[in-house]
This record gives sequence, C-alpha cells and structure tokens, in this order.
Amino acid sequence: SGVSLGVVPILTKLQKDCATPLPVLRHVADAMAVDMRAGLAVDGGSDLKMILSYVDTLPTGNEKGLFYALDLGGTNFRVLRVQLGGKEERVIATEFEQVSIPQELMFATSEELFDFIASELGKFSQSEGGKFEMQQGRTREIGFTFSFPVKQTSVKSGILIKWTKGFAVSGTAGKDVVACLNEAMERRGLGMQVSALVNDTVATLAGARYWDNDVMVAVILGTGTNACYVERVDAIPKLPKRMSNSPVTIVNTEWGAFSNGLPLTEFDREMDAESINPGEQIFEKTISGMYLGEIVRRVLVKMAKVGGLFGGGYVPEKLVTPFVLRTPDICAMQQDTSRDLEAVESVLYDIAGVKSDLNARKTVVDICDTIAKRGGRLAGAGIVGILQKMEEDSKSVVFGKRTVVAMDGGLYEHYPQYREYIQEAVTELLGSEISKNVVIEHSKDGSGIGAALLAAANSKYE
Ligand code: ADP
Repeated sequence: SGVSLGVVPILTKLQKDCATPLPVLRHVADAMAVDMRAGLAVDGGSDLKMILSYVDTLPTGNEKGLFYALDLGGTNFRVLRVQLGGKEERVIATEFEQVSIPQELMFATSEELFDFIASELGKFSQSEGGKFEMQQGRTREIGFTFSFPVKQTSVKSGILIKWTKGFAVSGTAGKDVVACLNEAMERRGLGMQVSALVNDTVATLAGARYWDNDVMVAVILGTGTNACYVERVDAIPKLPKRMSNSPVTIVNTEWGAFSNGLPLTEFDREMDAESINPGEQIFEKTISGMYLGEIVRRVLVKMAKVGGLFGGGYVPEKLVTPFVLRTPDICAMQQDTSRDLEAVESVLYDIAGVKSDLNARKTVVDICDTIAKRGGRLAGAGIVGILQKMEEDSKSVVFGKRTVVAMDGGLYEHYPQYREYIQEAVTELLGSEISKNVVIEHSKDGSGIGAALLAAANSKYE
C-alpha cells in the first residue's frame, strides 16, 4: 500500500514550518546575543534573566582537601564527597549517595524538609573513611546545587523565589535557602557549612573547567534546558558594585525563556496554550527533552485524524493522552535501521496500541527527525549566540582560540541525531575554520564534583 495521501500535505507543512535554514539560524543567534545584552543591562530588561551567579573564582586544578556537595533539584537529592589532591593527584577519591525525598516532606514545613536533608548529610558524613581525610579543626564545606528559582545574593546565599516541580514546602519562599540548611545542620551539631550555592549549569561549568581551562560555556539539555558562561564584569552594566577583584564572573542566562524569532508550528502553539506556564519558556518547549515527544504526539494525532495515517480517520485512543509519547521513544524510533522498521512498529504498538504499515512507520520517523532536527539546530544557534556575544565584547578572544562548550543532560547524552544537528548548525553558522576552534564536549555528571570544587574555590580557609 502507498502513503496515505492525506498525510503528505501535513508532513510537508510541518517540515516547512520547522525549517531552520541558515538565515533562521543566524537570526536566532543574533537575537540571543541581543537579548543577553539587554538582560545584562538591567534586571527585567529581556526575556533572558541573565542571573549573576556570584561565582567568580573558577576551579584551577590546585584545589586540595575534602569537600562535600549536595544536589537538590527534584524528588531525589544526591550527596557527594571528593578528596582533591591538587594538580598532581587531582581527584583522589569520590563517593556519593542518592536519597529519595519522602512524599510527605514535599508538603511539609521548611524546617522539616531541611532537617531531613541535614540528617541524611550527617549520616553520609559519618561514613567518611579510607582515602577521605578531613583536616583537623576544620568545618566540612559544602557546594550546594539548588535547582529552583533563586535570587542569588552572594556566592553563599540566595532567596528562594518559589518552589517548583511539585514541591509545596511552606515557609521557605522569601528566605535564604543556605541559612535554612545551615541552621538545620547547626541544630544537629553537624559541623558542616555551605560555602557555595549554585545552579546546575554553573556546577557543570565548574566541573568541566577543572579539567580544561578553555571551558567558557556550559549547556544543560535534559528535561529542561539552560546555559551559563564566563562573562567579563566590565560587560555587565547591572552589576551592583565591584565585589571582588576578579575580572570575570559566571552568568546564568536562563535561556529556556528565549522566544525571539523561533520557527513554531500550530502544534507548539497548542501545546504551549495547554501547558501550566503558557507563553513562558518557549525556547525550552522547542528544544528540550520534556517536550520533543509531546510535539511529535500532537502531529501524529492530527495525521491520524485528518490524514488517515493509521487508516481512515482512526485515532488510537491511547495516543490522545498528553505526554504518553516521550522523547526517549522518538529517539528509539530514529535509531531503527531495520528494513521493516520493527522498532518503530513496536514503539507505536506499545505506546499507542496501533498496528502500523511500513509507510506509516516511515512517516513517523520523518516526523521525529523533523522535530529533533529543529530542536538540535536551534540549540546550536543558541550556543553560537552566546559565543558571538562573548566575541563581540571581548575584543575577539573567543573565536581566535580553542573554546570549549561543556554539555550535559539526558537529551544530549542519549540522542545521537540531536547531537549531530547541534554540531551541524554550529558549523554552518561559524564556517569550517572558526568552528574548528569551538569544541562541544560532553561533560558527564560534572555538576556533582563541580559544586564541591566551587566549595573549595570559595572556602573560608583560603
Ligand atoms: P533532568 O534534566 O531531569 O535533571 P537528565 O539530565 O537525566 O535529568 O535528563 C532527563 C531527560 O533526558 C528526560 O526527561 C528525557 O527527555 C531525556 N532523555 C533521557 N533518555 C533519553 C533517550 N534515550 N533519548 C532521548 N532523550 C532522553
């Protein structure tokens, strides 16, 4: 049987609406640079918040001693310790534990939540031994990665704006989360203290920078997306006052909120309208793991209904549920190289309960590719936008030498085509010569050690 004729115009229109030819990429990169500058000028000056991280001491490799990290960003938190041995010995040992947060604590009081975290940290620090050695008389210092909206007030303090991701803990909003944790640790007499409060992108940048001095940008592409980079303090008009002697500082772009000139479709608009935050996080909704599968699902529903994708106007009942098709599913379908597209068949059967013919499966793969391609290429344009901004403000020291962009997150890690599309866009935009200097590198799980390194770099003992 041939392709259902009704499918063709829908696919053609989708590909046209999602197209990212060079002029579109260029516009996105330029607009990213413009929005970054506006966000650096004044708070609220742009879609991009351009949050000052107050991290201006980057890891050098000389860090020595035992440091802890705590990562709180979802329903699990991770605790980690690392023994650092300086330039020669580097990372002597690391150990970590993951703890799931009991459901009831997500609706508890601030004291209850932080007491629980402190007690888990306390237990973890009790098991210290072997290669881990704390210097006599010192407090254990912690790098605290906290992935909720925070108004940072110093490298070791920040006010929680609001809980997100299902947390409804009372009494934390408006308070310094570092004080909350420090007080809980004090109540237990732990002798531990937070030396750095960072978000996960900043921790990733620090973790990658420890191994490679050329790391200037970090990008997370997971469920959501964000990016941070090393900025010259001279290029930040809104910087309150000179807080340190460092000529540079890390800026957290919060680039998920970018929206200028993106190629969007009816499916994106409908998904956004039905989301819990309509009109917000448009870049994130176009490129990140939480949404790619859902966009594909919406296309499939329309193709089934009006294009006869699965025969007649048959719409598989299961396919109508939002978010049933996940990004790992569309990724799996794109990896299928079998002649009969057996993996595509089984994903469609498992997820949608539908029996598909070969032509339908081919069309489904084309849709997945269209959405992944747009996402990857726009992420690439965003990266070039950041580099371009840095280049323009730094008298050409970014493109003229090796510059590393550290990448992390499940989407980047597991989706090979997506990763290739990022690189493709970067090469198209920068040309083959300059793009040789821009190294896009996976920095796997660098954020844990990164946070500990920032505790070391901001230690009260140095
Ligand atoms: P998070 O961003 O939630 O902190 P991760 O960085 O591990 O955590 O990213 C998880 C996300 O990565 C998932 O929500 C999913 O969108 C994406 N992802 C995970 N596995 C795959 C996969 N095999 N293919 C494509 N995307 C994946």
